[in-house]
Amino acid sequence: MLDRLDQQAPDALLALIKLYNADAREEKIDLGVGVYRTADGDTPVFSAIKGAEARLLEEQESKGYLGPEGDMGFVEALLPHLLGRDLLGTLREEGRIDGMQTPGGTGAVRLAVALAQRAGVETVLMGAPSWPNHAQILADVGVETVAFDHAQPDGRANMEALRAALEGRGPGDALLLHGCCHNPTGVDYTDAEWDEIADLLRTTGVLPILDLAYQGLGEGMAEDAYGVRRVVSAVSEALIAYSCDKNFGLYRDRVGAFYAVGSKSDDLKRIMSNAAALARANWSMPPDHGGAAVRLVLEDDELTGQWREELASMRQRIGAVRERLAGHGQAGSVDLTPLAKQRGMFAMLPVSKEQVQRLREDHAVYMAGSGRINVAGLTMANIDRFVTALADVTS
Ligand code: PMP
Repeated sequence: MLDRLDQQAPDALLALIKLYNADAREEKIDLGVGVYRTADGDTPVFSAIKGAEARLLEEQESKGYLGPEGDMGFVEALLPHLLGRDLLGTLREEGRIDGMQTPGGTGAVRLAVALAQRAGVETVLMGAPSWPNHAQILADVGVETVAFDHAQPDGRANMEALRAALEGRGPGDALLLHGCCHNPTGVDYTDAEWDEIADLLRTTGVLPILDLAYQGLGEGMAEDAYGVRRVVSAVSEALIAYSCDKNFGLYRDRVGAFYAVGSKSDDLKRIMSNAAALARANWSMPPDHGGAAVRLVLEDDELTGQWREELASMRQRIGAVRERLAGHGQAGSVDLTPLAKQRGMFAMLPVSKEQVQRLREDHAVYMAGSGRINVAGLTMANIDRFVTALADVTS
């Protein structure tokens, strides 16, 4: 029976890691996999997380099962950072917001899409390109994906395409949006564009699925949540998928949360009972350790301050690399100037698969075949060499 299965393509980025590790050239540059790196090329554990983990080791008295909702202290502690105190206060008063812990942002996206489908959503509108796993999850859950162009060649969001995609849509359709630091383009909506998107969602009744995987890595914690807050304020129903894996550096600990906003508290109870049933059938309950560490960070003012500082220094480094890249202006045929106004760890360069291959073979620069680079893979010491290599293969 199992011999009937077709061979699946290996994950391209994981294959790239193998090639990178096997490359003996000392000057090699890894712009492939999406993890933050310091100027020394490391992905360290945050000091605030180390502090929380030490306390966890000391204080945790049981590893007995929690429910499918995971650590609700974690889920609640994250909310003021996500929604801000005013909006959260209103939603809580109205009994319109609830959530649960998930295995990473991936688990939260999966849960949101599966729940939307259970509620009758058949079509999900999505800007392209997107994080490749979005399309995989949508296909696996079994909803139809309708893609529209996310970005324009000048590096701004394509609002025309978004407006056209929403035309004639309504309840029964959902719109999947990146809250900030768009992966892979780095092209985010401006605040004014979010205002318009919120209005369009309210008037059409299309269900927003908001994926926030990089809060704090763009402009700041509040600034990066502008879109999510604006949409949630405008509509009666929304689903949010949140990842703590980047902004707390917890990647392999798989820390995420799913939130639902319902139109009234009765609805919300039914929504969450369905989310719990889906979680139970998928992973039973999320892994505890990372979520518990985030809870301890967020419950302690000192650790929270430390975390915010560490996050700010990541954000500043990413910003400095972007400025320096943009300062080069042109590298061969590639205009680097839009990188300064884009946000987060990723950018798409207009390069062909052959040019990506030449970068790897001739210059030991490793990046995804799509043209996506992880900006955090660059340092002040290697940017100029990268730009020279890029100019060489695109001239
Ligand atoms: N959404 C987007 C847009 C992402 O880029 C990622 C991570 N690459 C995720 C969700 C999922 O993150 P996690 O590692 O927490 O599952």
